Amino acid sequence: MSHDGPIEVEDAIARMLETLAPDRPTTSMRITDEDLLGRVLAEPIRADRDHPPFDRATMDGYAVRTADLATGERLPVLGSIPAGGAMPKDVAAGGCVAIATGAAVPGTLDAVIEHESTDRGDPLEVTAKDVRAGRNIHRRGADAKAGDVLVPRGTRIDAVARAAAIAGGAAVGTGLVSIHRPPRVVVVTTGDELRPADDPLDRDGDAVLIRDSNRPLLVDLIADRWTFGGNVTGTRHVTDDPSATRDGLDAAAADADLVITVGGVSAGVLDLVPGHWARRGWKTLVRGVRMQPGKPFSAWLAPDGGTVAVGLPGNPVSAFACLHVLLRPWFDAFRGVDVAVASRSLPLHAATRANPRRPAFRPANLVVDGDGNVEVAIPGWQGSGDLPHLVGTTGFARLPVIDGEVPAGTPVEFLPHRDDHLRRRGGTGP
Ligand code: AMP
Ligand code: MG
Repeated sequence: MSHDGPIEVEDAIARMLETLAPDRPTTSMRITDEDLLGRVLAEPIRADRDHPPFDRATMDGYAVRTADLATGERLPVLGSIPAGGAMPKDVAAGGCVAIATGAAVPGTLDAVIEHESTDRGDPLEVTAKDVRAGRNIHRRGADAKAGDVLVPRGTRIDAVARAAAIAGGAAVGTGLVSIHRPPRVVVVTTGDELRPADDPLDRDGDAVLIRDSNRPLLVDLIADRWTFGGNVTGTRHVTDDPSATRDGLDAAAADADLVITVGGVSAGVLDLVPGHWARRGWKTLVRGVRMQPGKPFSAWLAPDGGTVAVGLPGNPVSAFACLHVLLRPWFDAFRGVDVAVASRSLPLHAATRANPRRPAFRPANLVVDGDGNVEVAIPGWQGSGDLPHLVGTTGFARLPVIDGEVPAGTPVEFLPHRDDHLRRRGGTGP
């Protein structure tokens, strides 16, 4: 099916997701590789042995038999076990052993009395009352049994997940863990008006030119492993010229899972991107979305189904909004992240003009008052070219479609674009 008119945000997201095969490609990486952080686990990491692997003392003190304490007799100290030290085979009844935190408690003993509750003598007097079996002992397998999942598949590997994987023996033998292959992305900027990032723009005629800020914006965002996690394999620039567009886009599509163009996708005579994909026989997935900014967003699928091309509008805030609102779910699904960014409903801090025809996505922050009430604040909105008001924001406020102002206090959806720790598991709620 081909789609010509603007569609709803949710439908555009769904059409992007439909391009993905259910089995995501995987690769493997070394558990010690610095590059592993932020990658997504393709296979769960299981414990190779019980955790803890033995009955572990959690205090420095003396390992005793609780039954011996009932007699009130002093206990001869028959040995000492440091952390990592071998356990004595047998501790005679009526005796005890000095033990360090992290050492293995001999099987015939069932409590560890912390130093403070003894006279530290030999023979030892225990001053603690009501000592129960298990005191100060972290039982073997209490945290996890051998074979239990320590880190689920779909986890973005952070310092804690890596530590748990190492503790669990994830890479015993091979040193490798299985991760999802990130999508290969080529970013293509378009437009005769663009100059490189470091151009001083001080020549005659430069007043009408602008620096290309979208390329670094998109490359940096896409490469960020804690959010998009793409593999940017190349960047290109094409001028507003039919043959430059043809050659540039053909080359970009040659070896990519996703080609992202920015600019040249609206209805102007020099908006050459849509015509190119159509001439190449790519299927139109999306041609316009009911959102502001971002209406021109378009997407196409290669005839072999292996590459998606996405056309982002050129205005920086539009491009940014489309990437987060429409493409983040595709990136998450491609690389096997098992949860999705969730929005939440919070009161609007100050009255704001909405868009009468399309849901408006405004760069926004969460603000909190002295009583802990959290509200959504919009720092300012001068249109989709307003990069300065995007600076420092952490999400979008999604405003309802109304003709006029949304009053202060109205609950609006807040969709995080930076701190995305509020995440939805498989669509089944928090
Ligand atoms: P377009 O979608 O090509 O009509 O571009 C819309 C607006 O975005 C124009 O003002 C462009 O100059 C601007 N724009 C397009 N590409 C970039 C870019 N790479 N960096 C900064 N601004 C851009
Ligand atoms: Mg343009």
